[in-house]
Amino acid sequence: MRKSAKKVSKEKKGGAQPLLQSAKGMRDILPEEQAWWRRVREAGEEIADFYNFMRIDTPIVERAELFERGVGSGTDIVEKEMYFLKTRGDRLVLRPEGTAPVIRAYVEHGLSRLGQPVKLYYTGPMFRHEQPQAGRYREHNQVGFEIVGGEGDPLYDAQSIVIGARLLHALKIKKIIVRLNSIGCRVCRPVYRRKLVDYYRRLESKLCKDCKRRLAANPLRILDCKNEHCLEFKARAPVVMDYLCSGCRNHFKGVLEYLDEVGLVYVLTPHLVRGLDYYNRTVVEFFIEELGIALGGGGRYDYLGELVAGRRMDVPAVGVSLGMERMVAAMQAQGTSGRERPKARVFLVQIGEEAKRKALGLIEKFREANIKVIESLGRESLKSQLRLADREEVDLALLFGQREVFEGTVIIRDMKSGVQETVPLEKVVEEVKRRL
Ligand code: AMP
Repeated sequence: MRKSAKKVSKEKKGGAQPLLQSAKGMRDILPEEQAWWRRVREAGEEIADFYNFMRIDTPIVERAELFERGVGSGTDIVEKEMYFLKTRGDRLVLRPEGTAPVIRAYVEHGLSRLGQPVKLYYTGPMFRHEQPQAGRYREHNQVGFEIVGGEGDPLYDAQSIVIGARLLHALKIKKIIVRLNSIGCRVCRPVYRRKLVDYYRRLESKLCKDCKRRLAANPLRILDCKNEHCLEFKARAPVVMDYLCSGCRNHFKGVLEYLDEVGLVYVLTPHLVRGLDYYNRTVVEFFIEELGIALGGGGRYDYLGELVAGRRMDVPAVGVSLGMERMVAAMQAQGTSGRERPKARVFLVQIGEEAKRKALGLIEKFREANIKVIESLGRESLKSQLRLADREEVDLALLFGQREVFEGTVIIRDMKSGVQETVPLEKVVEEVKRRL
């Protein structure tokens, strides 16, 4: 390939290029952090298995319309946070959240045939063009649990809340506050919305710029605003609980009774609303005061199915999703350890060309027997390899040198006692197994 003239001249001059770094708000998860990630992933899977959730993976790229219709055009996510892809055809975005794609897949593939309700879980990255700050990235990972179908029974609201709390408990994350509210339905929410608009209209000139906009587009979102003045007004704002219809009130009562039954402690939070439009009735947030952030949230979203399908359809659903970066941060802040990779108990030390050539084959024999063996084939000296074996805290070292290759043997060294024994090469796996 021809290099461009500009590039060649720069290279010739030896002009340094700026160091390339990850894009703003994106981060690498380095090997030293992976133990926590492993623990979060494994705990998510164990919880999913226990409560009988099936895994679903949806594409990272979706049509923009899915979120415009599903999440709602008056939300921050859709209004200003979606990553659009430049393509020649469809308007595509990187998914900003996981629930709308799951419901799209459920409707598209007729997953109601799998039983009622269908329990699905996912993990994966989400993308939002937000202002990065502590615990807020432009790419973050979520683990989500969705219960779809099942006639909107409050039992499932309670179960999804219990699942979120159990996951945090399994990770030994302490001092979690489960905040709960109900935001009503199509019948009662508009009444509340009007009351809220009446209240804030009188204060309009004193609201922040964003809230002035929200007042017309999505007044409930004013309750999410963190601006000091807006927070003051929020304290006296009408609460949705006073306007719930009897259906919603009974439903919420049902959720609380189920939670009481399992002894899950919650805090009723009358002004809790969620940033996404699709919620109705139950909304929940798992808040950790120590870090001042929510580790997860969710609720019921009975109307999402028909928004996605574009026709009247009854798809009652409820779910929670938890932020993996934030769970890792909480574990680290509270001094909870991660889960290390399984440690190897055997180290292969080879000395000389012949032994090195045969070492790979020997390792394969151990792999077949499911015994993890580590090595440092790039190293030559016995001393440096034994030092490494010591550092890895293995139980046994296998010493394989010129003489052993010639005689068809291997020396097994017990790293604690230093006792060594020579065994025939074809018996070494068996002998190691016996000693471990
Ligand atoms: P949401 O989809 O907004 O309900 O978010 C669910 C959970 O994902 C939140 O409770 C956070 O733990 C996490 N989360 C949301 N946005 C971000 C972000 N920008 N960076 C890190 N974690 C996030």
